[in-house]
Amino acid sequence: MVTDKGIRGCVIIISKNYDRISLDGNLLKVSAGCLLSSASKFSFKNSLTGMEEVSGIPGSVGGAVAMNAGAYGVEMKDIIKSVRLVSKDGEILEYENKDMDFSYRHSRVFDEDLIVSEAIFELEKDDQEKIYEKYDDFTNRRVTKQPLDKKSAGSTFKRPVGSFASKLIDECGLRGYRKGDCQVSEKHCGFLINNGDASYGEMIDFIEEVASIVFEKTGFKLEREVKIIGEK
Ligand SMILES: Cc1cc2nc3c(=O)[nH]c(=O)nc-3n(C[C@H](O)[C@H](O)[C@H](O)COP(=O)(O)OP(=O)(O)OC[C@H]3O[C@@H](n4cnc5c(N)ncnc54)[C@H](O)[C@@H]3O)c2cc1C
Repeated sequence: MVTDKGIRGCVIIISKNYDRISLDGNLLKVSAGCLLSSASKFSFKNSLTGMEEVSGIPGSVGGAVAMNAGAYGVEMKDIIKSVRLVSKDGEILEYENKDMDFSYRHSRVFDEDLIVSEAIFELEKDDQEKIYEKYDDFTNRRVTKQPLDKKSAGSTFKRPVGSFASKLIDECGLRGYRKGDCQVSEKHCGFLINNGDASYGEMIDFIEEVASIVFEKTGFKLEREVKIIGEK
């Protein structure tokens, strides 16, 4: 989420301008600006398995690597072989998976302000029909359970140890809870959605209110998964 005051500075968007994909056996080399969904589809076309679970995560490969994004039991750390990065001083770094300090929605990218430039995914050959069946299954689960037609930043909170954010929010009676344009999704309580023109300030207040109700009622402290950028 970007604050209402925005970003005072130059923003480099690593996107379609930097989205090359190439294949070397079962190694898929992808530039950071490529959509994770496009990289996944490319792998399926080449009968490679491993990305079916994560194929529906919106965003770029760079963002996914930085966040160690994951879904349905598979995270970037399970399928990445190595990553090429750029340091703050402009140095090109090549890190193997084990050097990336991947953990739940975290990598060393954030500790050291690195820029992901390219990732190599290590996948396996498999039967293409089986791959597409798996892909369809995960796509269907996402479409039926998540409010993909609404504006959101995805799951607002990280999964707390010992429970699930969506379950806790639901148990607190907050399904569909609304304040102005901010709302807890009726479809999936883990998604706090913007129904219209809610500002950053309104959304962040709403997020904090939901977290504080959950803490008061259950004792679980919900930590934001959504990153905030910009001037406060
Ligand atoms: C509907 C919906 C569903 C979602 N489902 C999931 C899910 O199932 N699992 C999941 O993990 N996430 C999910 N997300 C969250 C989000 O899609 C992922 O975190 C995604 O990987 C972010 O990629 P992005 O390119 O959009 O990064 P951004 O959101 O733009 O950035 C995320 C962070 O990564 C940093 N970053 C981005 N690119 C780079 C780069 N090249 N180098 C260094 N740092 C970089 C940014 O500075 C920022 O701090 C969902 C979001 C939505 C809206």
